[in-house]
Amino acid sequence: MTSTLPSSLPGQLTPVSRRIRERLEAAGVPFLANDNIADHLLDGEMEQLELEVAGKVRDLLRSLVIDIENDHNTEETAERVARMYLHEVFKGRYHEQPKIASFPNVKQLDEIYTVGPISVRSACSHHLVPILGNCWIGIKPGERVIGLSKFSRVADWVFSRPHIQEEAVMILADEIERLCQPQGLAILVKAQHYCMKWRGVKEPQTSMVNSVVRGDFRHDPSLKAEFFELVKQQESVLGY
Ligand SMILES: [Zn+2]
Repeated sequence: MTSTLPSSLPGQLTPVSRRIRERLEAAGVPFLANDNIADHLLDGEMEQLELEVAGKVRDLLRSLVIDIENDHNTEETAERVARMYLHEVFKGRYHEQPKIASFPNVKQLDEIYTVGPISVRSACSHHLVPILGNCWIGIKPGERVIGLSKFSRVADWVFSRPHIQEEAVMILADEIERLCQPQGLAILVKAQHYCMKWRGVKEPQTSMVNSVVRGDFRHDPSLKAEFFELVKQQESVLGY
């Protein structure tokens, strides 16, 4: 423990991240890279976290032997990176789910529809470099319905965390089921991983495609085939 962390308020020796971590552990709440911890943050802690993370990024830059004291380009990089992590690219960990209203399915619609492509942006948990791609969602409505744009909002919130693609799709499916309890749900994600493009094997064209099918899409092969056919048509029209 150190008393010199900028995130420590006067008289407060414990870094804010440790206080939050201890609170999560005491409550038995997981805080893996792709978990959301918004419900367990107290007022003012995000501002303190921003200071703490900026301090650590500054240390990282120093460890990379970058002269941040004299390099005008990296002078405020630490603050920018801290803000970017906490409020943009990983906001799905720290910010609450956007408010999404659902409505009763009064007309008892039960024809399937697809929404997509929805842009998804994430980062791999292994290297923290971008995963960028598109997502298609197929719904067979149940008791409740949500507006089309809401699928983009919830996908953005779920993907804005460090992830592996397979888990991101599962978490998104869980959230959509929770929001509108569809009779059937299918999600397909096609994304490029900068771990493979920018580093490692440096394969610029490779993308990963994965999907999850639940409810009627899982039980009824023709419904599942219809979803993939709709996505394929849309893909060929749009040239993805
Ligand atoms: Zn990676």
